[in-house]
Amino acid sequence: MSSFLNIYSSKMTQIYSCSKRPLSAEEISQAVGASLDGTQRLLAACSGLQLLNTHQDDGRVLYSNTEQASIYLTRSSPVSLYQSIQYSSRTIYLCWHHLTDAVREGRNQYEKAFGVNSKDLFQALYRSDEEMVKFMQLMNSIWNICGKDAVTAFDLSPFKVICDLGGCSGALAKQCTSAYPECTVTIFDLPKVVRTSREHFFSEGDQRIGFNEGDFFKDPLPQADLYILARILHDWTDERCVELLSRVYKACKPGSAVLLVEALLFEDGSGPLTVQLYSLNMLVQTEGRERTAAQYAALLAAAGFSDIQHHPLKTA
Ligand code: SAM
Repeated sequence: MSSFLNIYSSKMTQIYSCSKRPLSAEEISQAVGASLDGTQRLLAACSGLQLLNTHQDDGRVLYSNTEQASIYLTRSSPVSLYQSIQYSSRTIYLCWHHLTDAVREGRNQYEKAFGVNSKDLFQALYRSDEEMVKFMQLMNSIWNICGKDAVTAFDLSPFKVICDLGGCSGALAKQCTSAYPECTVTIFDLPKVVRTSREHFFSEGDQRIGFNEGDFFKDPLPQADLYILARILHDWTDERCVELLSRVYKACKPGSAVLLVEALLFEDGSGPLTVQLYSLNMLVQTEGRERTAAQYAALLAAAGFSDIQHHPLKTA
């Protein structure tokens, strides 16, 4: 249901942004070709959700976006969550339909949701080029909102050569080169992701961002002062995380570092609610889970890393 509200409200925001004035339920239902009764009920629910403001006009109710809806739900906003909402409604929720089975079996639900084998997790996620691009757009959207905070929580200026492992669309790499004018960043990802990133997410060549196609579990990792793993470890089991971190540790020179960017559970697991829900999402969708800072520290230590610090993000 919430996906429907989100999609529908984004359509309304387009209408509103064309008209630049609050609209009545009649005008909106005509513009989108929907029933008046259905539109009225939806608009009432959206105003209850504080996505729409209501205005009285000669006994008529008019609707306009709240500030939050304009910022996060309009397609043209630079921090739009439109792609993320689309991916949730068309892909993620289909896995959530099988939550009961996921809990019983303790594993993701690609086979039931999409009829694809999930032995190779990212082959299942990227079951078509179209799905891959949608996933990349999903990954991209969050860093437009909190990417700057993610790369400035620690002072990364001493690290001139950075490798973003599983760097996907390059959104975090762009945040790094913008925050640290002296650094270069290599985006390391699976071959077809790297090719798509180049084609779809970089309009013109950024001299300070390079690309490296490979499998981070198998292929040599590029030399770097800093390795970033953003939302990577939460996809994998503890064993796979230690395997990957051990490969990163071996690639490190003295003075090199690794930066993990992940949503953290409280140490006793009692929250935050969003991260508890993300962890369930990792169950229905991946092989991984969300973890506490101590659990990540244990994975890092098992791979050989010392001097482990963590820092919350302002926008988290
Ligand atoms: N770091 C990005 C971010 O935070 O937006 C993307 C995170 S996404 C959850 C995981 C990324 O890891 C994807 O871009 C995926 O293609 C990449 N990946 C998965 N398995 C990989 C492998 N074996 N080798 C290299 N990259 C891999």
